[in-house]
Amino acid sequence: MLLPVAETTMVWTYSRRLLRNHRLALVGVVVLQAGAALAALAVPWMLGDLVDAVRAGTTRDVVARVGVLLTIAVLLQTLFAGVGQRQAMVLGESIFAQLREEFLHTVTHLPLSTVERAGTGDLLGRTTNDVDRVQWVVRFGVPRVLVTTTTIALTLVAAFLVSPWTAVALLTGVPLLVVFARWYLRRATPAYLKGSSAWAAINGVMTESVEHAATVDQLALGPRRRARMTEVLREAWHWEDHTLFLRAVLFVGMVLGYVLPTAVVVVWGAWLVGGGLATVGAVSTVALYSIQVRHSIGELLFWIDEIQVASASLSRILGVNLVEPDRYPSHETPAGEDIVAREVAYAYRTGHDVLHGVSLDLARGERLAIVGPSGAGKSTLGRMLAGIHPPTGGSVTVGGVRLVDLTEEELRSEVALVTQEHHVFVGTVADNLRLARAEASEDEMRDALASVDALTWVDSLPDGLGTKVGSGALTPTPAQAQQLALARLVLLDPHTLVLDEATSLLDPRAARHLERSLNAVLAGRTVVAIAHRLHTAHDADRVAVMEDGRIVEIGPHEELVAHGGGYAALWRSWQQE
Ligand code: ADP
Repeated sequence: MLLPVAETTMVWTYSRRLLRNHRLALVGVVVLQAGAALAALAVPWMLGDLVDAVRAGTTRDVVARVGVLLTIAVLLQTLFAGVGQRQAMVLGESIFAQLREEFLHTVTHLPLSTVERAGTGDLLGRTTNDVDRVQWVVRFGVPRVLVTTTTIALTLVAAFLVSPWTAVALLTGVPLLVVFARWYLRRATPAYLKGSSAWAAINGVMTESVEHAATVDQLALGPRRRARMTEVLREAWHWEDHTLFLRAVLFVGMVLGYVLPTAVVVVWGAWLVGGGLATVGAVSTVALYSIQVRHSIGELLFWIDEIQVASASLSRILGVNLVEPDRYPSHETPAGEDIVAREVAYAYRTGHDVLHGVSLDLARGERLAIVGPSGAGKSTLGRMLAGIHPPTGGSVTVGGVRLVDLTEEELRSEVALVTQEHHVFVGTVADNLRLARAEASEDEMRDALASVDALTWVDSLPDGLGTKVGSGALTPTPAQAQQLALARLVLLDPHTLVLDEATSLLDPRAARHLERSLNAVLAGRTVVAIAHRLHTAHDADRVAVMEDGRIVEIGPHEELVAHGGGYAALWRSWQQE
């Protein structure tokens, strides 16, 4: 189940839209490059004239004047080309920035279930390899394509102005170029697509093996992982080999296509001169043009090839847009803060329900602990209550509005899920906090940090809130990272929190310290705690016992113990330990 890939037409529509957004800059670049191309074209033109003048007999002054003009032409060309290239690079960067921002937005709003199902290899491949390929073409390719096409077009025009009869010879290369290019283009895109997905498979196999190296070792899966690696490598090798063959054929055709015209110009030109249809100077100019333009044609073809690769990558990047959202905001406003689950069912895989019609009313401000054996569906129910996944049956509502009918921002201001996975993002401490509320002021951030007991250590950092943290900079301890996550929650300020094993992975000393921070965050909110230690359950207002995707007992701790059911037994055995 890989992520979708966009159609070619979608890639074209998107590229056109991107270019249209930068129309003005595009025109500017073309104008500057046209200036450079014209100055470059003036050189053979003047040389051709000089040839004719020398044949007819001329003075040294005329030769000297042509020399000065040639120098001016070269200087102008340098100037235009330099400024033009700079503008072109700026244009490439702006286009790429827009692409990257849009892609990042899409990726960060993908439905979690899709990401989980597709595996991280595919998405990782698209965000790394594919983005790199597109980046290279947008940054350097788009500017160079503008430069080379302008140059080629103007060279042809100039050649026809100099001598239409001689210029016809330039066209002899065109059929060769067209035939080879068409042959190539028809085969290249599918081959490059296959190649990209083979690389994504390598990424996937590699990250899975490395991330779970301990498991691979313990279960002696080494040989099987290696075999799988060899398999995906072979696949990638095959496509690399195939596309290399396609390129090799293309380049043979291309070389023929641009060497031939020069030869034809000279032979055909000599015949024309004999018949008085062209001058030696004009033939010299056109022959020089045919040599000068080779470089541009070669470069253009190189970029056409790279554009093929990039458009395959772009269709994988845009494919991510095609993932169906798992929620459509209805823009209803919740009337109240009561969270109600009705007959909630959920299946990670169709037909395999792990929740079977769970109903639950959360009282405002209560603490509910969910306990039960591993695999009972506690975490899954937690994710439903936090609106992470839409339930496959039944509904979870807040104030009468289904959680999945809210926008992500609205949802997060109602209910948030707190897991033990806490990530410190690369950036400053303030950046990490503002993820929760972009417009949070410094005072608000300091208050939030103070309430989770983290202000002291943040203030002791070299730049306080402005200190850079995350990989490559200062790495906070796991407890500090957890506190940052809690401070984010304070800023987010949802009325309901779902805690999934929030402190279980920390060492007990840090856990006790964190519990204070956590309690500060929990105060005044409705809390659903997925409990792995029964004393959490003991402290809760109510306890729900889950088994096999159902709530089998629910009520205050004392009542359940007095009732003498499954929970009472659990509690007794835990106390004996
Ligand atoms: P608990 O939190 O009580 O241990 P979970 O909610 O994690 O239980 O799991 C309930 C059931 O759903 C288990 O059978 C588990 O194997 C299955 N499950 C959990 N997560 C996934 C997933 N991402 N894909 C498929 N099945 C899953």
